[in-house]
Amino acid sequence: MRKHIVAGNWKMNKTLEESQALTKDLLAKIPHDSNVEIIITPTFPNLYPVHEHVKSSPIGLAAQNAHFESNGAFTGEVSTEMLKSVGVSTVIIGHSERRSIFGENHEMLAQKSSKVVQDGMQLMFCCGEVLEDRKAEKHFDVVKKQLEDSVFQLNQKEFEMVVLAYEPVWAIGTGETASPEQAQEMHKFIRSLLADKYSEEIAENTSILYGGSVKPNNAKEIFSQPDVDGGLIGGASLKADDFVSIINAF
Ligand code: 13P
Repeated sequence: MRKHIVAGNWKMNKTLEESQALTKDLLAKIPHDSNVEIIITPTFPNLYPVHEHVKSSPIGLAAQNAHFESNGAFTGEVSTEMLKSVGVSTVIIGHSERRSIFGENHEMLAQKSSKVVQDGMQLMFCCGEVLEDRKAEKHFDVVKKQLEDSVFQLNQKEFEMVVLAYEPVWAIGTGETASPEQAQEMHKFIRSLLADKYSEEIAENTSILYGGSVKPNNAKEIFSQPDVDGGLIGGASLKADDFVSIINAF
């Protein structure tokens, strides 16, 4: 059985006080007996304070990025060892904002992916095409290449630590979502790539999340697709009521 996951990517939002307030609000409102894995992703300075709130709760903690070295002269970077030491168990790698704004390429993403899983953490690896790719009907090729050039460098054992998130860039923060059919079609395609590259078992067991303008009013329809195993939520994860409604859409 694949895990159902709803993860909130807080991006560069929320001060310490705001992060703590949102976390407390979530703890009061989330279902505590759900079979959905709930994950939140505060900014680096707020990870440990939030960990103090969620450590004995169903909410797991993720980081938005990590470097591929353990330590050293890498000004501004954070390692997986540091993240683990403050209670983080999942790391998001390959978000389109990291690719497009910060220039992260396939090679770096492959190195980062490898570091995350070798340190025993869950890797949440993002992929997704831009609008021009979709208009040119290249979206399947683009996503395939994104996976092949980076996260598919992991071996089969390492890949057991991976969750994938399909986030079409044209749907991120735009209010425009992929239709449930578009999401299903891509998720099914990704699952077929997993079967070809690894095994039927990996394909069957890997959770594939959808991200891009998931809101309380569209979550149910998207999550009802057979190959959609949850969501990676941006804007709507910043309000407890919205995020909890999305969790409850399962
Ligand atoms: P939005 O939900 O704000 O579109 O963001 C999606 C996203 O980028 C999650 O990582």
